[in-house]
Amino acid sequence: MQPSAALARISPSPTLAVSARVMELQRAGIDVIGLGAGEPDFDTPEHVKEAGIRAIRDGRTKYTQVDGIPELKEAIRAKFARDNALTYAQDQVTVNVGGKHTLFNAIVATVDAGDEVVIPAPYWVSYPDVVQFAGGVPVIASAGPEQGYKLTPAELQAAITPRTKWVILNSPSNPTGAAYSVAELRALGEVLARHPQVWIFADDMYEHIVYDDFRFATIAEVCPELYDRTLTVNGCSKAYAMTGWRIGFAGGGAWLIKAIAKLQSQSTSNPCSIAQAAAVAALTGPQDFLKERARAFQSRRDLVVSMLNQATGLSCPRPDGAFYVYPSVAGLIGRTTPGGVMIDSDEAFVTYLLDDARVAAVQGAAFGLSPGMRISYATSEDLLRTACERIQTACAALR
Ligand code: PLP
Repeated sequence: MQPSAALARISPSPTLAVSARVMELQRAGIDVIGLGAGEPDFDTPEHVKEAGIRAIRDGRTKYTQVDGIPELKEAIRAKFARDNALTYAQDQVTVNVGGKHTLFNAIVATVDAGDEVVIPAPYWVSYPDVVQFAGGVPVIASAGPEQGYKLTPAELQAAITPRTKWVILNSPSNPTGAAYSVAELRALGEVLARHPQVWIFADDMYEHIVYDDFRFATIAEVCPELYDRTLTVNGCSKAYAMTGWRIGFAGGGAWLIKAIAKLQSQSTSNPCSIAQAAAVAALTGPQDFLKERARAFQSRRDLVVSMLNQATGLSCPRPDGAFYVYPSVAGLIGRTTPGGVMIDSDEAFVTYLLDDARVAAVQGAAFGLSPGMRISYATSEDLLRTACERIQTACAALR
C-alpha cells in the first residue's frame, strides 16, 4: 500500500508541527515559550460551555441535519445580518467542522484538475495545500511588508487568468494581521467585477479581532455586485475561543451550499451536535466581551511590536487585526550565531531562536513569504515580555 497521489501533493501543517515540538520540549522540562500556535489563550465563555453541557443533559447527542441544525443556521443568518449587513436564506448557509473544513469542502467541491486559485502571500498555510489536494494550482501573489502585506488591484489583475476559479481574501490576515479597508476592498472588487468566472472565498475568521478604530468589512458587503459569487466564511474558533469545539460556517450561493452538503454527507456528516448547540449560544448570546478581548489583544500587540522593533535586525509592521505579527528578518540574514551557524534563511533564524533563546515562532517560508516569521501574541503579557527580551538578546548575539 502506498499513500495516494493526492496525499503526496500536500504537507503536514507546519504551524501544528511547531506546536507539537513546543509541547514535546515542555514535557521534557525545558522552559520554552511557544508563540507558534494560532489560538486565543482565553477560555470559551461560561454561557457557551453551559449550553454545551445542557445539550448533553437534554440528550442532543444524536445525528443532526448534515450541514447544521436549523436553529444554528438561523443564528448564523442573524449574525451575517447584524455584523455584515448580508442577507442569506437558510439554504444559503452551511455549518462545518471548523473553518478549515469549510475551506476543504468549498475547494474540493468546486476545483477540477488544473483550475487556478489565487492566494495572496503571506497566506494561511492550509490554502495552497487544500487547493493542491483537490488537483488545483495555487497561484501565489506576493504582498510584502513594503505594501503592508496587502495585495494591490494591479497585482490581483496580473494573477487572474481564464483558468482562475477562486481568489482567496483573508482579512484580518493569518499570518500578518493585515486588514483591508473598505476602500481597498472596493478597489479589489472593481478588478473582480471584470472577471465573472472568478469566485471569492472571503475568510473573515478574525473579524472581531480588530484594533483602534479600524472598521472591519467583508467584500460581499462593500461590493454587492460580487454577492452572488462570494462565499463569506467565518466560524466560532477565534472570536469565541472555541478552537476545540470545531464549528465553522459560511454564507453563499444555494447551489454551492448544496454541493458542500453533498460532500459533507459522505465524509464527516454533521458537525458535533453538542458543539452546534454551544455555537447557537455563542452567536445569539452577549457580544460585549468580544470588544473587551480585542482590547486585551491590542495592548499585547502594542507591547510586541514595540519590543520587536527594538531588536537588532528586526522590522515589525503594526497590524490592524488578528493576533499575529510578521516581522521581517531581512536584517539578520548573513549573520552568524554564537555557535558558528550562518543565518541563511528565516528557517535558520527560527531554529536558532528555539535552540538558543527557547522561543518558538514559525518561519515565513511556511506562509510563502521570506524572510520573515510569524509570532502569535495570544498569550499573557508577562510571557510576551519575557519572550521578546529573549528575542532581543538572541538578535544582539548575532555577528
Ligand atoms: N481561516 C484562517 C485564516 C485561520 O487562521 C484559521 C485557523 O487557524 C481558520 C480559517 C480555521 O479555523 P478552524 O478550523 O480552527 O475553525
